[in-house]
Amino acid sequence: MTNLQTPCWLLEETLLENNLKTLARIKEQAGVKILLALKGYALWQSFDLVSRYLDGCCASGLHEAKLSHEKFGKELHTYSPAFKAADIPEIAAISHHLVFNSPAQFRAFAPLAKQHNPHLSLGLRVNPEYSKSPVELYNPCGLYSRLGTTQVNFDASLIGELEGLHFHALCEQDAFALEKVLEAFEAKFGAYLHQLKWVNFGGGHHITRKDYDVDGLITLLQNFKAKYPHLTVYLEPGEAVGWQTGTLVTTVLDIVHNGINIAILDTSSEAHMPDTIIMPYRADVRGSAKSGEKPYTYRLGGNTCLAGDIMGDYSFDQPLQIGDKIIFEDQMHYTMVKATTFNGVPLPSIAIQRQDGTIEVVKTFGYEDFRDRL
Ligand SMILES: *Cc1c(COP(=O)(O)O)cnc(C)c1O
Repeated sequence: MTNLQTPCWLLEETLLENNLKTLARIKEQAGVKILLALKGYALWQSFDLVSRYLDGCCASGLHEAKLSHEKFGKELHTYSPAFKAADIPEIAAISHHLVFNSPAQFRAFAPLAKQHNPHLSLGLRVNPEYSKSPVELYNPCGLYSRLGTTQVNFDASLIGELEGLHFHALCEQDAFALEKVLEAFEAKFGAYLHQLKWVNFGGGHHITRKDYDVDGLITLLQNFKAKYPHLTVYLEPGEAVGWQTGTLVTTVLDIVHNGINIAILDTSSEAHMPDTIIMPYRADVRGSAKSGEKPYTYRLGGNTCLAGDIMGDYSFDQPLQIGDKIIFEDQMHYTMVKATTFNGVPLPSIAIQRQDGTIEVVKTFGYEDFRDRL
C-alpha cells in the first residue's frame, strides 16, 4: 500500500466476499433472490465476484441498465421515478423486470416495452406510507414523496398486466424496521398479492452491519414466503454489498495553523466523499480517535477552495507529517458513483486488493476526465 499513488479507492475482495456470503446465506435459507442496487455500488471490475453470489442488478435507468447487461449479466430489474419514451426500447430489450413509478407511466409505456420484449415482467412501485427512515432526505415515504404509488392512487385495473409490486422504504435499517414496513404494505396492498408473481422489498437493509439481525430477517422472509408461497421475493441492497469493504487512501500535502492544526489532504470531502457533507456523517480514519482523545489533534480538510471542504477533527498518537497517509474507512458505497471533478480536483484512482494480497490498480483518471465532462 505504501507504493500506492493517492488519492486511491482500495477495495478488498476478501471483505467484499464476506458480505456476499452473508447475502448468499439469506438467499439460501429464506428462498429469496437478492440483487445489487447499482445506485450505491457500481464498481464493475468486481462484478465477477459479485455475480457468483447475487442474482442480478437493479438499475435506475438506461445507463445503469446497460452496465448491468454488459458487465454483470443475470437478472436485470429496471425502475425509474420517470422513464422517457426514447429510452424504453433499449431498456425493455435488456431488462427482465420493468418497474413503473405511477399508473400513468405504466399505461404510457407498458405496450411499447412489451413490443420490444414480450417476456418482460411488469411491475409497479407502491408507497406503503410508512417509514422510520432516520433522515428525511432519505425517506421515500415522507410527506409528499414522489416515489411510488400511494394506496389512493393505485389502479386495480392494472392487475392482470401487472406481475409484481415493488416498495423501497428503508435507509440503513434493521429487520425490525422491515417488519413494520411490511405490515403497512400488506395492509394496503395485500389483497392484490394473490394475483401477482413477485414482490420486491427494495433496499436499505443494513444486512452486513455487525449488529444486524440476519436470522431475524431470514425468519421474517420465511414467514412471508409461507403466507404467499407463489411469490418470488426480491431484496435489492446497495450499501450492504459494499459496506466496510475498502478505503480511500490519501496523503497529507500541507499542515497549516489557524487557532488549531489543520492538515490539507490530496482528496476532497465535497468531490470524493460527498455524503460526509450531504447526509452528513463522519468518516472513520484508521488509527485515529475523536478530537482531543489522542495527544495530537488535527482538522482534516480537502484541497478544493470550498471553505466547508472539511472531513472533521481527528486525533492521532503521533504528530502528522507531510507525506503521511490518511486512510478513510468504509469508502466503497455511495462514493465512486457520486464523485465529481469539482474545482478540477483529480478523481481518485481505483485499486482492488485481490484475495492473494496483490493490489491491482484498475482505473486512473486524468485531466481529460475533467475536460471531457464539460
Ligand atoms: C437506493 C435504492 C436501493 C438501494 O438502497 P441501499 O440503501 O443502498 O441498500 C434499492 N432500491 C431502490 C429503489 C433505491 O432507490
